[in-house]
Amino acid sequence: MTPRDALPSLGDGHPVVAIDVGGTTMKVTSVSADGTMSPPRRVPSPPPGPGSADEVVRIATALVHEEAERLGAPPAALGIALPGVVVEDQALGVYSENLEWRDVDFRAAFARTLDLPIAVAHDVRAAGAAETRLGAARGASTALVLAIGTGIATSVQVDGRLHVGRGYAGEIGHAVVVPGGEPCVCGNRGCLEATASAEAIRRRYERDTGTEVSGSKEVFARAAAGDPVAVAVRDSAFDALALGLSHAITLIVPDVVVLAGGLSEAGDALVVPLAQRLESLVRYGPVPRLVRATLGEDAGLVGAALAARDALAAQDDPQPSR
Ligand SMILES: [Zn+2]
Repeated sequence: MTPRDALPSLGDGHPVVAIDVGGTTMKVTSVSADGTMSPPRRVPSPPPGPGSADEVVRIATALVHEEAERLGAPPAALGIALPGVVVEDQALGVYSENLEWRDVDFRAAFARTLDLPIAVAHDVRAAGAAETRLGAARGASTALVLAIGTGIATSVQVDGRLHVGRGYAGEIGHAVVVPGGEPCVCGNRGCLEATASAEAIRRRYERDTGTEVSGSKEVFARAAAGDPVAVAVRDSAFDALALGLSHAITLIVPDVVVLAGGLSEAGDALVVPLAQRLESLVRYGPVPRLVRATLGEDAGLVGAALAARDALAAQDDPQPSR
């Protein structure tokens, strides 16, 4: 991991606790009244299965109590970012493939364990909100924050508003970019994620060469050294990313596209060839700036904290002017 600066300040407001629930790890931070975020702590996520949502609520509740001691004051809200399909305003976890829950009402679940307002966020949209308000896309009103890791998904912000699409907005990883191509976990073939995720790049290289590699980073290094199979896998991934992005760009005309997730650590080795492909694919409208995320793997956690602060601000001022 690239070393990163401390988490950004959220400014003055209520003290809150923020949690980001991942497939394997739950991260927690607390935000003091002056907006300082404490260094994140990590605990293991519960195993997948029918009890996983209750376990997440139990672990999160214990974390909130621990963070309250750290804060030295009771937090005014909990912001929690969840994976999978999430409808934020109903606090609904519709579906998580990693943790195997379906239709969980997290507000009702937390009401049984915690006497605190809850703001539910979606991990990718939370990261998108964090990057557009405090990170690489700061100030942009229309933006995509594309996370390329094990899977691929994007936040879709249009004219200052995050689009939710009943929980399914931004699942560009399952848009077909190579008809009849690589099989995908969703059952389709040729999905962007099956072609160009960090995991797909590793898997495709190993299949085509019979050689085990540590990950997409090693495939990029082999491509840079002239390995023709690595070059072919890498370039076809870039082609697929550019094609998928070009459609999203044509549709919403973002000011900026932020590249996040594990693959974005490749830096210019990803940004430059992708920008070149977009220049040649997007001829009719403006080509957005392409930049790397700045909040890194903590963007979802920062977004969860923003969601908690936003929920409290809406309570304080039910008709905000912004
Ligand atoms: Zn798919």
